[in-house]
Amino acid sequence: MIQNKQNRLEQIKADIISKNICPNLAKTAKQLVFGDGNPSADIVFIGEAPGKNEDEQGKPFVGAAGKFLNEMLASVGLNRDDVYITNIVKYRPPNNRDPLPEEKQNFLPFLRAQLEVIKPKIVVTLGRHSLECLIPGLQISQVHGHPKRYKGLIILPLFHPAAALYNGGLRQTLMDDFAAIPTILNQIEQEN
Ligand code: URA
Repeated sequence: MIQNKQNRLEQIKADIISKNICPNLAKTAKQLVFGDGNPSADIVFIGEAPGKNEDEQGKPFVGAAGKFLNEMLASVGLNRDDVYITNIVKYRPPNNRDPLPEEKQNFLPFLRAQLEVIKPKIVVTLGRHSLECLIPGLQISQVHGHPKRYKGLIILPLFHPAAALYNGGLRQTLMDDFAAIPTILNQIEQEN
């Protein structure tokens, strides 16, 4: 079953390349950063786009923000092999600029296909870009930490670890929201 899911994820990755999605980004990036972790995970984390380290290593969240994410995972008894981590945009934007609206739209069907294969119990959006893609029109400052049901998904909006890294208040808020993940997951399991 996991093998089957892994194969289906590999096919989605191959489709992004064969359909030449965002050719300008593909040209300036070193490689596609598709996703990492357990294809049968209960929790999927979705960031914004790869940065320099991710572009070099081909894995999401391996730089400073990734180290912070790993620490928060450990604080709730999880490691990266228990979860699946990806981004909305799968090539590094030049000079780490914000992804453009059309870049996010172009990658969205592939993100949805990944979620369709993994079928997580909860999708954690990290930062405003992935939140806006999955549930348009919400303010992260108002909804962070509160799970939302939308189009067949349960989405937990969290602040982005990179934004929280050097901002003490935001950092504590993110850690508090993160600490609630096991309880939220438990509640979802009880309801279903
Ligand atoms: N920030 C993101 O949004 N994604 C990564 O993969 C790394 C940093």
